[in-house]
Amino acid sequence: MKKKVEDFVEQKGKTSVELSDVNELKKKFLSKGGMEKDIKGYEVTTCFGGAGCPNTTNSCTRLGKNIEKIIEKENILSFLKENVKRDLKFHHEFRVALSDCPNACSRPQIVDIGIIGSVLPGIFDEDCTLCNACVDVCDENAITLDEDNVKPLINYHQCLMCAKCIKVCPTGTSGEKEKGFRVMLGGRLGRHPRLAMEIAGLHTHDQVLSIVQKSLKFYKENSKNGHRFSHILSSVDQILT
Ligand code: SF4
Ligand code: SF4
Ligand code: SF4
Repeated sequence: MKKKVEDFVEQKGKTSVELSDVNELKKKFLSKGGMEKDIKGYEVTTCFGGAGCPNTTNSCTRLGKNIEKIIEKENILSFLKENVKRDLKFHHEFRVALSDCPNACSRPQIVDIGIIGSVLPGIFDEDCTLCNACVDVCDENAITLDEDNVKPLINYHQCLMCAKCIKVCPTGTSGEKEKGFRVMLGGRLGRHPRLAMEIAGLHTHDQVLSIVQKSLKFYKENSKNGHRFSHILSSVDQILT
């Protein structure tokens, strides 16, 4: 709703939200059919990484634009109009959220498709100076120095693939092993909230687009009368197989 208020105010040419704007929008939404013409059938949200956030691990900007092109082609709005037997509401829209790092500011865990830009770190052959910078910077306590104090070890069960240890390493000992995107499906809020289910591993730009395409196909084949993607998806295997 917060974003919708901001969009509404922006359409009016204003740069700040006032209480009168909130009340005007509330009145509009509560009137019969008042919300319907503002619904476009889907929403693709990105975090502020593209505006220069220093935490950016792997930018989702290009991926977000390409996902939007795919969703536009699928014409979700027409699909919803044909299938939903009552007024369309914002909660019927298909939602995608992309974040450029695991801080996940765009909340990818609670939408239909969530994506997090990620980098898997590795330890390379360059001599480690044992400066401890990578150990200190890791918020997950995923790095320790080995028993012989020669090089760091990464606990991949704890690592969130944020790349902070890579950015601080002066020697290149801690470096990029793999770059890609984490993908999670079927999250929602509402009366029965559920966190999205993650597809294991890192995925390339093109693999993510393929997952989006398959998810939309599954959604259109199985959603009846406005059922959300998360209500019809019980396992990511339904998309992968
Ligand atoms: S998700 Fe990460 S990169 Fe994006 S705005 Fe938040 S902290 Fe910055
Ligand atoms: S990528 Fe992030 S979470 Fe993983 S080891 Fe490095 S600093 Fe820790
Ligand atoms: S891997 Fe890099 S940051 Fe970590 S202790 Fe060695 S030199 Fe320092």
